[in-house]
Amino acid sequence: MVKIMLDPGHDINTPGKRTLDGSMREFEFNKATALHVVNLLSNYHDVEAVLSHDLYDGIDTSLTARANLANQLRVDCVVSIHANAGASSARGIETYIHTNAPDRTYNLARMVHDQTIIATGMVNRGVKRADFAILRETNMDALLIECGFMTNSDDLVLLKSDDYRIKCARGIVNGLVQFYGLNKKAAPVTSLSPSVVYEAHIEGIGWQGVKRNGETAGTTGQSRRLEALTVRLENTNARLQMEGHIEDLDWTNERTNGEVLGTMGVALRLEAIKIKADGLNITYRVHIENTGWTDWKKNGEEAGTTGQAKRIEAIEIKLG
Ligand SMILES: [Zn+2]
Repeated sequence: MVKIMLDPGHDINTPGKRTLDGSMREFEFNKATALHVVNLLSNYHDVEAVLSHDLYDGIDTSLTARANLANQLRVDCVVSIHANAGASSARGIETYIHTNAPDRTYNLARMVHDQTIIATGMVNRGVKRADFAILRETNMDALLIECGFMTNSDDLVLLKSDDYRIKCARGIVNGLVQFYGLNKKAAPVTSLSPSVVYEAHIEGIGWQGVKRNGETAGTTGQSRRLEALTVRLENTNARLQMEGHIEDLDWTNERTNGEVLGTMGVALRLEAIKIKADGLNITYRVHIENTGWTDWKKNGEEAGTTGQAKRIEAIEIKLG
């Protein structure tokens, strides 16, 4: 099992890290691209993606805390995702490894960088070395990719678009697949009727593999926390809306298609969940520690418990 930490640089409130006109914060790009990487990696066997910090708490987690988490979780590599700033004429993608990084790290960075250049068609600024904290303080292969310049008007248009973010994520994933020799999961049987697709991140297991239309995601009777969840709808334009209640953190903000709900690697319980999508009936139930399956809930009703310190261990979601 290859464990990969995605580190979306900065946070939403980090001072300075935004475009000159204030129209985009760097974190918006970093976070969206990292989540695309997490989703794309879920299509491969024997790989687990973890995030370096809570993306929704509005706190700029220190570089040392991020590095400490990577060291504590003994991940195989850290991929830090950023957008650049510089002269207004500067364009393109550059990737950094630590000044003293070994050949192995260089080879990983080279593959991720080259694949991202191929996927995006961007100006190639090469693989460089620098004494950045996230590269210095992590004990494993670590790279930092600057995916374009917020200070260049052409790059900025790209950095703001989801299409470009997906291309960057695809390139990063292609490099990781090449370096680690990851194998793709068999394509799921596709149907043209609306379906719900979801994946759970389980304590001690990681991302468990994609489930759909009522299949059980998670475990029962193993006393393992369901720590995070992604849900998306297929073959429908209905917009998914999901909220979760996390131990000590209250209800989260709304998540939509494919966004990660919950936390990974920080040992917090997901305790309750609400899911809805206008124009579709969504039905779901959760398996609670020591209690078993709840009744089926639907269209935004609360499934689970709050304030009772009971974890969700598994979930089933279906349409209709
Ligand atoms: Zn940055």
